[in-house]
Amino acid sequence: MLRSNKLKLLVWPLVVACLLAICLLGGVTAERIAISGIRATAAERVLLYKSTLNNAINRLRHLPIVIAQHPAISDHLEASSDQAQLLAAAHAYLSSVNTASDAAVSYVLDLEGNTIAASNWQEEESFVGRNYSFRPYFQNALSGQEGRFFAIGVTTGRAGYFTSRPVFSHTDPQQIIGVVVVKVEMEQLQADWREAGELVFVTDTDGIVVFTSVPDWAYRTLKPLSAEKRKQIETNRAFIGQELDALSVEKISALGGSQDVVKVEGQNVQISQAQVDDTGFTVSYLAEVSAAKTARWSATVLLLAASILSVVLFLYLRERRRKQALDNEAIEARKIRKINQRLEAEINTRRQAENDLRSAQEELVLASKMAALGRMSAAIAHEVNQPIAAIRTFAASGKLLLERGMTSDATHTLEDIKNVTEHLATITSDLKLFARSSSEPHSLVSLQEALGHALKLFSTELIDKNVELISHTPQHDIMVSGSLTRIEQVLTNLIRNALDAMAHKRDAALLKVTLETEDGEAVLRVEDNGSGLSAEVSEQLFDPFFTTKPFGEGTGLGLAIAFGIIDEMGGKLRARNVEPNGAVFSIRLDVAKSAADDQEVLAGAAE
Ligand code: ADP
Repeated sequence: MLRSNKLKLLVWPLVVACLLAICLLGGVTAERIAISGIRATAAERVLLYKSTLNNAINRLRHLPIVIAQHPAISDHLEASSDQAQLLAAAHAYLSSVNTASDAAVSYVLDLEGNTIAASNWQEEESFVGRNYSFRPYFQNALSGQEGRFFAIGVTTGRAGYFTSRPVFSHTDPQQIIGVVVVKVEMEQLQADWREAGELVFVTDTDGIVVFTSVPDWAYRTLKPLSAEKRKQIETNRAFIGQELDALSVEKISALGGSQDVVKVEGQNVQISQAQVDDTGFTVSYLAEVSAAKTARWSATVLLLAASILSVVLFLYLRERRRKQALDNEAIEARKIRKINQRLEAEINTRRQAENDLRSAQEELVLASKMAALGRMSAAIAHEVNQPIAAIRTFAASGKLLLERGMTSDATHTLEDIKNVTEHLATITSDLKLFARSSSEPHSLVSLQEALGHALKLFSTELIDKNVELISHTPQHDIMVSGSLTRIEQVLTNLIRNALDAMAHKRDAALLKVTLETEDGEAVLRVEDNGSGLSAEVSEQLFDPFFTTKPFGEGTGLGLAIAFGIIDEMGGKLRARNVEPNGAVFSIRLDVAKSAADDQEVLAGAAE
């Protein structure tokens, strides 16, 4: 229990930690996706810029060849002395070509690097007469090669891309007699870039920004220049008048896990580069990555909001479920309460019904007791009335006989009165048996002993009346709980009745007495082969005062009393006919366990 509580306490911090981790990870992932999107766009843009630059530079790449081959140029270069006509022709040609090609300026240098003709010969910034022998493009052309060079114009102060070619002699095609240079300016291109509003710049082999959409970055370097490099630049005067300070460029390798994300002049940008063929130029396209950062934090905040919402929803649903469960429990409890109330009502109804039944039973018992008492009183009154009427008659006739002096007859009459009163005495003594307390103390009684005593009373009579006695009793005593005298009284009555039932028999009268145990019960049977029990007798056998015997011989109370005695001992007294004739009366009583028996049982168990 304690452990599960501790676990529960741990769950929430864990869930919160997991959700926070998911939010942060989601943010980083969103940033990476955004960066890769930016990178893909930048890769396309840089190629576009490279191609526009390429076009701008190479558009007039072959113009110096064309100019070098024109007779106006070579003629002018080969003229031995200054001929105004040839110079005018060269100037006119250069001007027309320059205007037609949209170049910044086209000019011709002699072998010393002096400008002998130029398309801008009429302008204030005319190149004519100026010496450009320090420029690498002059030296390259002089050695018979194409010269390509970026520089800020020493005369104009405007940056441009210079392309040069040697001019060969007409007479000796191997002999270089001069150099033709065409300058292309990138102002328009850069203006277009600026207009596009994107961050783009072009660096030369030394990492100096030569063209850019950000004017402030022009002639800045990606890394500080070495002293040697600075000296070389001073010599060719490519960046005349420029400090060539380094741009602030920091690597931010951690951002979005990209290596190409850098901080340029305080701006976080993703840098995409492309080399421009044959120029040593590198085009750099800078894509701002603040959008990626925004994506990162937006995703984090969104995920956080979603997490909080999910947790709140989860808690709400859990609470609702709990409430529903409580409601269901309450409904169940209400149902159970109702069922209980119904049950209680039913129990009360049953209890009431039971009480009613009990009182009805009690009333019935009382009624039946009253009925029995009534029957009994009627029977007693009937039985007693006859002798009393007889006594009254005898007394009246005795008085008459005495008045007449017939004393001997009167004596007989008095004798009759005595006989009748004796009969009455028998009835009252039998009735007394009914009144005897049923709570007479019980003790262990041996049925063999009780049977022995009863048979002994009849021993002479059995012989006199020639009745055969068969007795089956076990060796060991069968004990029951009861009163010895009362059991003897029952047995005496049963044997008396059996002998009376066989009184008419001249011979073969048989009295059979058996004692045995069946299923823990003692069974004692008294059987005779006498008259048996007619249906009418069977019906009233145990009723008080029912007798078939003549007046003075039976009271009809014997079996009624016997039945009461056996019933009071918890046993049963039954009667039935036996074949071919006669009746059997059986007594069933529970076998009682004596202390001796218990000891025997214990001894047996010990063995
Ligand atoms: P009583 O012996 O005074 O008549 P009981 O109650 O003992 O009274 O017997 C009632 C009647 O039951 C007898 O009168 C007799 O008709 C009948 N009876 C009892 N025992 C037997 C028996 N063994 N065989 C036939 N009838 C019997």
